[in-house]
Amino acid sequence: MTTNPLYETFARAPLAFERGEGTWLITTEGDRYLDLAGGIAVNSLGHSHPHLVAALTEQAGKLWHVSNLYQIPGQERLGERLVEASFADKVFFTNSGAEALECAIKTARRYQYVNGHPEKFRIITFEGAFHGRTLATIAAGGQQKYLEGFGPKVEGFDQVAFDDLDAAEKLIGPETAAILLEPVQGEGGVRTFPVSSLKRVRELCDKHGLLLIFDEVQCGIGRTGKLFAHEWSGVTPDIMAIAKGIGGGFPVGACLATDEAAVGMTAGVHGTTFGGNPLAMAVGNAVLDVVLEDGFLEDVSRKALLFKQGLAAVIDEFPDVIEEIRGSGLMLGLKCKVPNTSLVQSLRDQKALSVGAGDNVVRLLPPLTITDDEIRDAIGRIRAAAKSLSNAG
Ligand SMILES: *Cc1c(COP(=O)(O)O)cnc(C)c1O
Repeated sequence: MTTNPLYETFARAPLAFERGEGTWLITTEGDRYLDLAGGIAVNSLGHSHPHLVAALTEQAGKLWHVSNLYQIPGQERLGERLVEASFADKVFFTNSGAEALECAIKTARRYQYVNGHPEKFRIITFEGAFHGRTLATIAAGGQQKYLEGFGPKVEGFDQVAFDDLDAAEKLIGPETAAILLEPVQGEGGVRTFPVSSLKRVRELCDKHGLLLIFDEVQCGIGRTGKLFAHEWSGVTPDIMAIAKGIGGGFPVGACLATDEAAVGMTAGVHGTTFGGNPLAMAVGNAVLDVVLEDGFLEDVSRKALLFKQGLAAVIDEFPDVIEEIRGSGLMLGLKCKVPNTSLVQSLRDQKALSVGAGDNVVRLLPPLTITDDEIRDAIGRIRAAAKSLSNAG
């Protein structure tokens, strides 16, 4: 056996999948796994969705890449649709969530700069945040385990405790440019900012001339039962990063902004080679075709309720394993009493895939297309996994 040629950065499960069908992943050995991780909220429409396969293969036969030196009709179309469906007026396409956040951070700093405030570049973030793995986004996330050994932390990010708006207000100073948060924290343990906090953070930004940036890379694109999670609050940001679900498995990200917030992003100040290429745009548009269909998002909320009710029964039965259900829509967190890694492993023994998060939480991020029967099947597997870990079992 040759040595592993890959960076050792991932602790991978000993499973290799060969194909996927909807909510199912099939290993090279032919074992079927119920996918409740959804590629970490990426496979929003499951695996091999016929509409996405058709969109990608049709585009693949026509044109892959031209660069942003030329017009890309698919970009204009997806941009128009995102603008139409959101607070935003302008969109910049990227290949990943971290790049969407980089664009969001740069947009906020440039806004202050062109408005005569070059001194305003600092951004306030919240503990438990995750914004990506580039040098600026690990500084924004503020997690020591991701910063260690990578040299001086990129300057300009100040962090307060989760949902501590008093502390955020105190931190606002003459150099503050923006406040950045995930309306529902993903990696941090599926923690939702209360509506009242989002309202207050909007007020703070307006009062102090700051821009409000939402990171909806994980919670956006229908995950919570609205196209964007912040819609539940009625609060809109000035800038928003999305990725994951909008590509349904193809790498697509985007930074959305109001005309006012994007005022500094003029010709030549930012760029990307791959971002918004025709393949990515064909898939992004196809994802929106499905997610924006009449009744699709309402059905996500309905299914989420079914899922939560089933999970509540499992908690009643095994309170020594799971203590709380968190989250919104099909972005669910199981706060564990046992180590979350044990529950992820037991679920895998039941041939169900989940993903760990901070705060000893197991995340369930199934395809939004999961069926009622698959939800009942999932509950059965979660019950069996909890039973195997419980003293009551
Ligand atoms: C995954 C994630 C990112 C980073 O996205 P990448 O595509 O991995 O760069 C940023 N923010 C949130 C909230 C995420 O969940």
